[in-house]
Formats: sequence, structure tokens, C-alpha cells
Amino acid sequence: MKADKKTATKPSAKKPAAKTTASKIASPKQSAARGASATRASVSKVSADNVASKKVLAKKSPAKKTPAKKGHSKNPPKVTTKDAAADIARKLIAQYPDADCELDFENDYQLLTAVILSAQCTDQQVNKVTARLFKKFPTAHTLAEADIEVIKEIVKPTGYFNAKAKNIQSCAQSLVTKYGGAVPQTQEQLMELPGVGRKTANVVLGVAHEIPGWTVDTHVQRLSKRLGLTRESDPYKIELDLQKLYPKNKFDWTKLSITIIWHGRRCCYARKPDCAHCPVNDLCPSSEV
Ligand code: SF4
Repeated sequence: MKADKKTATKPSAKKPAAKTTASKIASPKQSAARGASATRASVSKVSADNVASKKVLAKKSPAKKTPAKKGHSKNPPKVTTKDAAADIARKLIAQYPDADCELDFENDYQLLTAVILSAQCTDQQVNKVTARLFKKFPTAHTLAEADIEVIKEIVKPTGYFNAKAKNIQSCAQSLVTKYGGAVPQTQEQLMELPGVGRKTANVVLGVAHEIPGWTVDTHVQRLSKRLGLTRESDPYKIELDLQKLYPKNKFDWTKLSITIIWHGRRCCYARKPDCAHCPVNDLCPSSEV
């Protein structure tokens, strides 16, 4: 089977209150007197001051404004209509009708483990690693009882292997002790497992149990911004924006997430999006064509 990739601010110092002392609020007469006095005093300095002023002006004169460049900026204009967002979804789904999770797995325990390993790693690399891992530890029970050093050695190619090895084993142990080795089917229960966040929980629910949810991974984050579907950077806030734009009763959130991920992998690349061949370049506010 197949599945998806992978995968205080200091309080600002208070500004001093503006001075409102009497010395600051001069009467018209006082102002005029001060002005005249200042004028006399400054006559002798005019030449020197003019020279200095010119230098200051030369330094401070603003650089010529260059026209805004068309392209994928960090904050493209937001798509304001649900209709435009719906058109984008329809076109992308038509472009990738077979979009599916690209991780290999045979049961939900394997999918959960593969998704944890997919953080900061390609699905292809994860699939190579899990082929070996699941052959040796095909169930949560076997992984829960495995030698941690053996797990580390197998998952090393996925990066961050110390943390990932601990997470997948702790997760397997929790599955065994809490659920008899099965994978729970609610977001809350899943998110209580070691190494499982909202994105991982949504992938497992959507792909293994057909419970729709948004997978806001790095591709969905990037494309949502470029396509003007959100201006948020926080994955949860992006998810909320997407939920509003795409009503649950009209769009399959899991399918749409995976479709956007596919587009990110095959066309709207992080560094150089291929806008010329993009099926939604007529709707995308970041299009470079
Ligand atoms: S590839 Fe498509 S979605 Fe990505 S920035 Fe270009 S036009 Fe927009």
C-alpha cells in the first residue's frame, strides 16, 4: 500500500510617555519670539548649515522605488473568494487524479511509524528504511520489545535517528500497553502518543481510517501561502484557514492535502516553482508567468 510524504517574544519595553510639560506647549507669542531669536542666531551659520544639510539630504534621500516584482513573495495577496479556492482545488485534483500517500505500509501501526520517521526526510528514503524495519519488527509488540540500538542502526538514514528510534519504540510501547497493540482512531488519543503531533495524527486518520483531516506539512504550508489561501505561518492556523475555505461537506480534506503535496513535489518547488507548467497559474497570485 502507499501513503504520504514525508513526513516569547520579549515584552516590548514601554515607550516613555510623551512629555507634555509647559515648556513644550509654547504660546504663539513665545513661539514667534523664539523663532525670531533663532533666526538671528542662525544667520551666521547659514552657509555652513546649508552645506551640512545638503550632505544630510544627500544621505537620507530615499532610493528610487523599483516596481514590485511579480512572483512568489512571502506574503502574496490573499484569495478572497471561496470560488477561486474551489477552482484551484478542482484543477489540482484534475491534474493529479491518482494522488495518494507515498509511504509504504501494510497496517496502521506501520503507517504511524513511517509517518513519524518521515519528518525531515523523503518518502523514498523512509520506504527503504521501513522495508527493513517492518521485516524485522512487523508489529507494535515486536518493535516495543526490540533492542533500541538495533532500531537506531536501521532508522539512521532518515536523520535524527536517536530521537526517531526512541519515539517509534515509545510509541509502539504505548500502543501495546494502552491499546493492546492497535492504533487508536481519534486525534486526541493519537496525539497523546510519543512522537505524534497533529499532522501525523491527521495522516493516520485520513489515510488508514478515511477520517478526513488536513495534513499541513512543509508543502501545504508553502503552497497555501503562494496560492493565497492563507497568510498564516503557524500550521494550525493554516489548517483553520483551509477548513474555512474548503467546507468539509464539499471537499475531501485528506485527498486535497495529498493533492497539494503532490503539486508541491512535482511543480511548485520550494526554490523555483515551475509556474509555466502549473495548471493553476491563472488563479495563483504568486504566478511568475
Ligand atoms: S507553480 Fe503554480 S501554484 Fe506554484 S507559485 Fe507558480 S503558479 Fe503558483
